[in-house]
Amino acid sequence: MNTMKITVQKFGGTSVAGLERMKRVLEIVSRECARGNKVVIVLSAMAGETNRLLDLASQWSSDPDPAELDALATTGEQVSVALFAMLCKDAGLKARSVLGHQVQIRTTCDYTNARILDIDANTLRAMLNDHDVLAVAGFQGCDEHGRLTTLGRGGSDTSGVALAAALNAETCEIYTDVEGVFTTDPNICDKARKLDRISYDEMLEMASMGAKVLQIRSVEFAKKYNVPVRVRSTFSDNPGTLVSQEDKSMEYVLVSGIAYDKDQARVTIYDVLDQPGVASSIFGPIAEKGILVDMIIQNTSRDGHTDMTFTVSRKDLQKTLALLEAVRQDIGAKEIQSDTGVCKVSVIGVGMRNHSGVASRAFAAMARENINLLMLSTSEIKITMLIEDKYAELAVRTLHEEFELDKQPGERKVGEV
Ligand code: ADP
Ligand code: ASP
Ligand code: MG
Repeated sequence: MNTMKITVQKFGGTSVAGLERMKRVLEIVSRECARGNKVVIVLSAMAGETNRLLDLASQWSSDPDPAELDALATTGEQVSVALFAMLCKDAGLKARSVLGHQVQIRTTCDYTNARILDIDANTLRAMLNDHDVLAVAGFQGCDEHGRLTTLGRGGSDTSGVALAAALNAETCEIYTDVEGVFTTDPNICDKARKLDRISYDEMLEMASMGAKVLQIRSVEFAKKYNVPVRVRSTFSDNPGTLVSQEDKSMEYVLVSGIAYDKDQARVTIYDVLDQPGVASSIFGPIAEKGILVDMIIQNTSRDGHTDMTFTVSRKDLQKTLALLEAVRQDIGAKEIQSDTGVCKVSVIGVGMRNHSGVASRAFAAMARENINLLMLSTSEIKITMLIEDKYAELAVRTLHEEFELDKQPGERKVGEV
């Protein structure tokens, strides 16, 4: 029987940016090896490197081929794992780098946004028989044509969790530049409070509303395969936050966090015909291109015409506008406008399901700060507001204060369940 104990540790871009920081990573990894565990390290590209590579592509081409974009972007992680394996060897550890096509991490062919289909765990286990440390490149895989793919921005988190699931690892740790998952982004709200535990479902909501501390797909993976994930800092010994299944000991609160997402663009189509099939003519071609549409508002009709407003990711704006231009005549639109100076702010909490009044408190708090709400949407467990992006930080801090998220749930004055 194979009694190999495997630890998976993923380190993000700031944790590997430069020799000194990688030495800190080496310390953490060596500690784990000293415990007798085999260690699979998943590394991101050094901070800023993926952006630099994608910028290069946009200088070379007005519409870069997605498969070539992936061939380019994957080099960032390749540099990190090769350098890290060198450090390990110098420290006396048996280590090697492993790329996505060597493992293999097989994915769909959706270049720049591929999904993991399966991981060849046997090959990895065989490699672990001869090594203490495998430094696996995050964010990348390969498709059925043998071409390199990437898993979407922030995708190394998903590589880490997927590897932990495939290897049935003892531990899956995501090391980053903050001490765990907080009630909101600690870099913009100094009252943000670190959570000791958070359920998969709440983490999914936070991630999908813009809290980039974990990529949303990594949380989906963790939930599906029941992998407990510890998010913690590379630069301190704080035990961080455990992301796991809900249990009775968890905080049951009305509002658990505030998330924001600046990667938003608003599109308004004026005076489209108000008749069957128009929404489908607008959103059909957009969906076919794999563009995710977020908030959608259709106004009430006047004289057989109406306005339609929705949001997309900023990177998809130009493509979206071109698709709309192509159907403009068919839908009878007078004018199409877009705006990238917007930000989405969300109040999240499973406790909202059974309680009313959260939305009105959120709106009143925004009104007190004179922040205009451009679009609104609500679901059972979240309230989302689109605002001008220059007010993003103010809105997050205001909502954090309104719902007293700096305090433990039991110490909050109003509205707790
Ligand atoms: P890495 O490079 O390690 O993957 P990221 O930059 O992708 O790190 O994610 C960590 C960042 O996520 C933090 O620096 C922080 O600004 C941001 N963040 C946003 N929301 C939260 C939150 N609720 N809790 C913790 N961090 C958050
Ligand atoms: N390097 C990739 C990115 O910047 C993946 C990651 O860091 O998770 O998106
Ligand atoms: Mg990240």
